Amino acid sequence: MIDFTLTDEQRALRELARAFAQHEIAPLAAEYDRESRHPADVLEKAHDIGLMNMIVPEEYGGAGLGMMETCLVTEELSAACSGIGIAVVANTLALTPFLLAGSPEQKTAHVEPLCRGPHLAALCMTEPQAGSDLGAIRATARREGDHYILNGTKTLIDNGGVARLCCLFALTDPSQGLRGMSAFAVPADLPGVSVGKHEDKMGQRAINTSEVIFEEVRVPAGNRLGEEGQGFGVFLETLNRNKPWIAASAVGVARAALEASSRYAREREQFGHPIASFQAIQFKLADMAIKIEGARLLTWQAAWLVDQGSPHALPSAIAKCYASDIAMEVTTEAVQVFGGYGYVREYAVEKLMRDAKAFQLYMGTNEIQRHLIAQELLR
Ligand SMILES: Cc1cc2nc3c(=O)[nH]c(=O)nc-3n(C[C@H](O)[C@H](O)[C@H](O)COP(=O)(O)OP(=O)(O)OC[C@H]3O[C@@H](n4cnc5c(N)ncnc54)[C@H](O)[C@@H]3O)c2cc1C
Repeated sequence: MIDFTLTDEQRALRELARAFAQHEIAPLAAEYDRESRHPADVLEKAHDIGLMNMIVPEEYGGAGLGMMETCLVTEELSAACSGIGIAVVANTLALTPFLLAGSPEQKTAHVEPLCRGPHLAALCMTEPQAGSDLGAIRATARREGDHYILNGTKTLIDNGGVARLCCLFALTDPSQGLRGMSAFAVPADLPGVSVGKHEDKMGQRAINTSEVIFEEVRVPAGNRLGEEGQGFGVFLETLNRNKPWIAASAVGVARAALEASSRYAREREQFGHPIASFQAIQFKLADMAIKIEGARLLTWQAAWLVDQGSPHALPSAIAKCYASDIAMEVTTEAVQVFGGYGYVREYAVEKLMRDAKAFQLYMGTNEIQRHLIAQELLR
């Protein structure tokens, strides 16, 4: 039986994240969005109070918490600014392949030093010609004795320009397509690793998103995570485990839009009355609340299943797809509640609408989520 009564520890963690978001993130959100500025200062403070690397076991320098706790924190941070919030939480995604497929020695060598400070990791899969169609990736890992030589260009990589550690997916056997893919730990300061274009994004502008280029990068064979050919399986499970906190981030953005809309509707008067007195506006607010509650429950269900070690691929896809779709709908309606002022930067709801769009695109677009859900239904 699922019971979503939060424990005292979970409530305290959520309060900590809420206070941090209000005091350390919200005041910076507009400026960091405008300037697309990497939030190094926020990361340092977030690391100090234990909000980074929450799912990493304590023995490797993390907090040893679960996906449920990660979701509680992410919703709070993203309600203040999803760009900064995701920068704080994004190691969860990039470190998952290490936790899934890495040996204890690999975790000690790569994960533990990363968790010692406010350092970042990047998950490097997407290529210019290979987004949804990962069978089209061209990055290669050529074996030479007890080393691999890595080559490839990865694009749209969150934290790509600022990461210390990359998890690179490359073909060890190009003739096998997806079955010839393997995962590698690649320190970003190795010769041959460079940062390409910094993406000037529509939303979530505070998190660095860049191209990462690998040219004849030489890594020991011991940097391969798992066996040769296991990379695609590791990647899929990485996405399945991380979709709940992406959904939680979308819920946070939608919640911020509803809170702003409710406040504004009480203050703004037209025809001699607050616009909140008009049923058309009330129903918008009610519909927003219904969608947010539904999305949060789906998110928590998926997180709970991940934490239980129960099958979670389908619920994670449903939560990510639904939460990101409703975040887009709710933020668009928030702009409508604000009228013309919703369309100008000063009132901040336009930022929420721009930020919300990203959730429908990454971790598998929502078309791909629907494809996965339908495949499961028709199996
Ligand atoms: C802000 C942001 C951050 C990102 N961070 C990372 C990261 O950290 N690491 C990383 O590796 N990647 C990252 N990505 C890349 C992301 O995973 C890809 O953008 C995504 O997988 C889609 O690939 P694409 O952009 O090439 O679109 P395409 O695959 O070219 O898709 C274009 C359109 O066609 C649709 N489409 C494609 N195939 C099908 C199909 N079979 N059926 C129906 N519709 C289809 C898509 O849904 C989409 O609407 C990020 C992207 C963004 C926007």
